[in-house]
Amino acid sequence: MLKYNLSYWERETFFQPIDVAVIGSGIVGLAAALHLKQLDPKLQVAILERGPLPIGASTRNAGFACFGSMTELMDDMARMGEDDVLTLVEKRWRGLQRLRALVGEENLEFQQLGGYEMFTEDEEDTFLRCAGQIHEFNRKIGSIVGQGEVYKVVDERIPAFGFRRVRHLIHNQPEGQVHTGKMMATLLAKAERAGVRIFNGLAVKRLEDSATGVELETKYGWTIRVPRVLVAVNGFAKSLLADADTTPARNQVLVTRPIPGLKLEGCFHYDRGYFYFRNIDGRILIGGGRHLAQDEEKTDEFGTTEIIRSALVQLLHTVVCPDHKPEVDTWWSGILGLGPEKKPIIKRTSQNVVVSVRLSGMGVAIGTLVGQEGAEMILERKM
Ligand SMILES: Cc1cc2nc3c(=O)[nH]c(=O)nc-3n(C[C@H](O)[C@H](O)[C@H](O)COP(=O)(O)OP(=O)(O)OC[C@H]3O[C@@H](n4cnc5c(N)ncnc54)[C@H](O)[C@@H]3O)c2cc1C
Repeated sequence: MLKYNLSYWERETFFQPIDVAVIGSGIVGLAAALHLKQLDPKLQVAILERGPLPIGASTRNAGFACFGSMTELMDDMARMGEDDVLTLVEKRWRGLQRLRALVGEENLEFQQLGGYEMFTEDEEDTFLRCAGQIHEFNRKIGSIVGQGEVYKVVDERIPAFGFRRVRHLIHNQPEGQVHTGKMMATLLAKAERAGVRIFNGLAVKRLEDSATGVELETKYGWTIRVPRVLVAVNGFAKSLLADADTTPARNQVLVTRPIPGLKLEGCFHYDRGYFYFRNIDGRILIGGGRHLAQDEEKTDEFGTTEIIRSALVQLLHTVVCPDHKPEVDTWWSGILGLGPEKKPIIKRTSQNVVVSVRLSGMGVAIGTLVGQEGAEMILERKM
């Protein structure tokens, strides 16, 4: 016998009727729930979220509103082919416009300060390869983002930023940045205002789809039956759906104490994007370094490790901000959902269950779109 059986009142008042249950209240789950309400305001939509807040990647990311720096896109083109990469860039760009419309520029604190890819003295060959392709990239990516000059070499800005060991910078003009916390707080408030019921602290342990609907067994011991389910748990998908083609990957981040006179502005990609940093409220946020401990970081457990902490602090103190050597204010980590390719998974896995997961490192850009597409799929005719 369960200690905390649902009472009749609880079951009938809070958990019925639910037309669609969304699992996970990250950017994808919230965008999906809002879209469902927009498509059909009478639809009863509930979100089951295991954390007191959404605790995965959406409240823990770096807030880059990015669609691809040159080395990353060139690597991806070599692996996935140019057409697929351009389709992905188009999706990221479209997703960013949807996010800006959904959350509102002010709420997002959206700032188009540009992105920069940095090249050290050891990366001269890579830089030359990129520089040689700028014209072509501006033609192809420019037609997606509606701007002629997307990428540009801006080495003359290096002294003003105060970097050491950096020899070249390629600026990506349309790249922007958002305030991750305010983005998520706005989405949560919007969902509540739209009548979406959000249950926090309710982790789903198992789901079983049958002709009569989906049974959701929660870790709390309650079992809830709903007609349709959208799974939006990104890096945690494997714990719910054993054959989900996703791998969790932890990413560690720090934010410094305020730095007097900080001039650095924008989003910066270092070492082919394995490290990233930006300005926020007169501080620097810096993260990444997962490649330094690949196996250890393939985990859905939160936490920080000495090897990555010291790599991030060293980068901060020797390359990014060598004159100030700022102190660390806060450390945290978040969990990404990765796969063999960078495309997200949006698919029906059984008659009444759709998944919208595996957003790689670009969920700010594509999260809204991935949630909305999942929402449309769950309302479509079933298999
Ligand atoms: C450190 C870091 C930096 C990043 N930086 C950027 C960036 O600058 N730009 C960018 O575009 N992207 C970035 N990303 C990626 C981006 O944050 C993600 O792609 C995006 O937030 C994924 O959103 P989501 O809703 O799919 O998943 P999540 O935000 O992870 O949401 C999934 C939710 O599901 C919940 N959940 C999990 N399992 C269960 C369960 N069994 N029952 C109930 N609830 C469950 C979790 O608690 C979580 O709240 C970064 C990610 C990290 C970790």
